[in-house]
Amino acid sequence: MRKQVAAANWKMNLTYQQAEELITGIINTPHQLSAHQYAVFAVPFPYLTMVADKLKGKANTGVAAQNCYTKTAGAYTGETSVEMLKSIEVGYVVLGHSERREYFNESNEMLAEKVNVVLAAGLTPIFCCGEALSIREAGTQNEYVGNQLKESLFHLSADELKKIIIAYEPIWAIGTGKTATSDQAQEMHAHLRSVLAAQYGTDVANEISILYGGSVKGSNAKEIFGQPDVDGGLVGGASLKADEFVQIIQALK
Ligand code: PEP
Repeated sequence: MRKQVAAANWKMNLTYQQAEELITGIINTPHQLSAHQYAVFAVPFPYLTMVADKLKGKANTGVAAQNCYTKTAGAYTGETSVEMLKSIEVGYVVLGHSERREYFNESNEMLAEKVNVVLAAGLTPIFCCGEALSIREAGTQNEYVGNQLKESLFHLSADELKKIIIAYEPIWAIGTGKTATSDQAQEMHAHLRSVLAAQYGTDVANEISILYGGSVKGSNAKEIFGQPDVDGGLVGGASLKADEFVQIIQALK
């Protein structure tokens, strides 16, 4: 079975004390992760070490940065390198979230570079893709999102690609309360898998976990994650409540 992942994206929320309370609340809420199920926490940079320490020894959990820079070191004031993340035992880096694409002008080309540095350091990229409402309304979402994968990932070898997690997040469903239907999610996930299969073959495509993101909640996670090509979720708002995020973890198949 493919890796199933519940990834929390705390974005730029919470004070240190609130973050500590949230991760402790999640740990203390009874839940179980099977061998193929993972819970990953994409938390603000200042909290990475604290959250990693709290999760130490907890099987199938991990900590993710929400971004990184393309250079490994040097005079880049305000940036964070993958080497730094690696040195504090961060295992994952979220790349290309739509908020970073929109507010920080991250292009497919720049994301290809970020994917390279993250893989080179031995960390796992969680590569985000997804279309705006105007693109969905024009009916060109398959081509648009397929192109995001092609431009940022298709320079990779099959072995490199297999180390990536993809998160499909339709922008019109992020933080809006408007979830894609489970059919819409399945349709896009199957399309993306076919795009991967056309380039790398079916066996490789079938190994890649594709998460859905966009207003996933405790109440809809089971139905969305139950779709055959949906391998869990990247969760914003609902990951800020301990009991609800645990419910989402428990909805993994
Ligand atoms: C996200 O930001 O990755 C996200 C999916 O947010 P929300 O769950 O709040 O829509």
